[in-house]
Amino acid sequence: MKTERSHDLFTRAQNLMPGGVNSPVRAFKSVGGEPFFVERADGAYLFDADGNRYIDYVGSWGPMIAGHNHPKVLEAVIGTARNGLSFGTPNPLEVTMAETITRLIPSCEMVRMVNSGTEATLSAIRLARGATGRNRIVKFEGCYHGHGDSFLVKAGSGMLTLGVPTSPGVPAGLSELTATLSYNDFEGATRLFDEIGGEVAAVIIEPVVGNANCIPPRAGYLQHLRDLCTQHGALLIFDEVMTGFRVALGGAQAVYGITPDLSTFGKIIGGGMPVGAYGGRADLMRQIAPSGPIYQAGTLSGNPVAMAAGLAMLELIQAPGFYETLDARTATLCAGLEAAAQDAGVPFSTNRVGSMFGLFFTAEKVETYAQATAGDTAAFNRFFHAMLEHGVYLAPSAFEAGFLSMAHDDAVIAATIEAAKGSFAELRA
Ligand code: PMP
Repeated sequence: MKTERSHDLFTRAQNLMPGGVNSPVRAFKSVGGEPFFVERADGAYLFDADGNRYIDYVGSWGPMIAGHNHPKVLEAVIGTARNGLSFGTPNPLEVTMAETITRLIPSCEMVRMVNSGTEATLSAIRLARGATGRNRIVKFEGCYHGHGDSFLVKAGSGMLTLGVPTSPGVPAGLSELTATLSYNDFEGATRLFDEIGGEVAAVIIEPVVGNANCIPPRAGYLQHLRDLCTQHGALLIFDEVMTGFRVALGGAQAVYGITPDLSTFGKIIGGGMPVGAYGGRADLMRQIAPSGPIYQAGTLSGNPVAMAAGLAMLELIQAPGFYETLDARTATLCAGLEAAAQDAGVPFSTNRVGSMFGLFFTAEKVETYAQATAGDTAAFNRFFHAMLEHGVYLAPSAFEAGFLSMAHDDAVIAATIEAAKGSFAELRA
């Protein structure tokens, strides 16, 4: 495989950008080696600067559910761009976007557009704190909600760990307000609420964890959190930046039948453009400026080109059978990978919710963060590079979910499984 141009770009980039990248996981630190630089993407494929082609299971970390470079999204972007790139005034597409989101996600009675998932989650907890008059928030070990200060807190062991910042630069006084729980631990959540329930502004959760590989909720777990929040006057925030419009048209809240107070979105909602959104109960959303006192704003929020891309994407995913097809193909992929691993004698399991999936180098079914992190990371890293050599790009970390797109047809999936057979065999060698 040729890598000269990517290598040259990475060498130049490292002196110009921290780690040579604009977002950390892209640097391949976790899997080792050097990243490839993508010049172009189409359908299920990425094409790098050296002309290599990869089947892509990252999909820009989730947004590209219809496949890269979809003509409908492209047309919408180009057509809208001709009318001007940004107005800084209200525009009609924002209204259509708000109508679409509130129709597809009934818990979102009102919505505010922002420019990234991070902005959405930051805004949602400010709203939760402002509306409840409480300061503490609760998150879950292994869940990622963007790089806001309050979220960069990791649990140690135990039920309630006083928040310790995971990143320098986060004031301890702020991270102390973030309590961390083990995902899927019913008892831990109950105990925490017994102790500090009256001080909790909000519980924020990825309803299906996608940032510690892929971990679905145990039966009844999200309902348990819903009940605890309701009993103690805390808000429940579903961070659906990844799961929204991904695991189902109505997101994880539709799959599991839970009504959060607030939800955050990103990725698919922007069709590949920098977009996020938060929304929820109207009585809460009305507390946001200018209708209420809780401040949040954005020069480029509701940008017309971004709205056009997002609306085109939301149109595509409403096609009859869209999710059924995508889910069935993802099931085929996961079953094929498991069979290939078994044939090669490699301990391996998968998790899947809709077209979001996780690959684990362990024989057991993974239901917790502790299990996810106990998998054989070295085996994953070798598998990742073997797959890359076979022309398949998986997320460059053992702790990220993978995504399928509608462009991943039966032939692409069959080619992936063939590549996996070779890669698993190489692991055994
Ligand atoms: N929440 C979740 C669940 C995410 O997966 C991410 C990003 N992967 C974010 C928030 C942050 O989104 P962004 O990178 O757009 O700021």
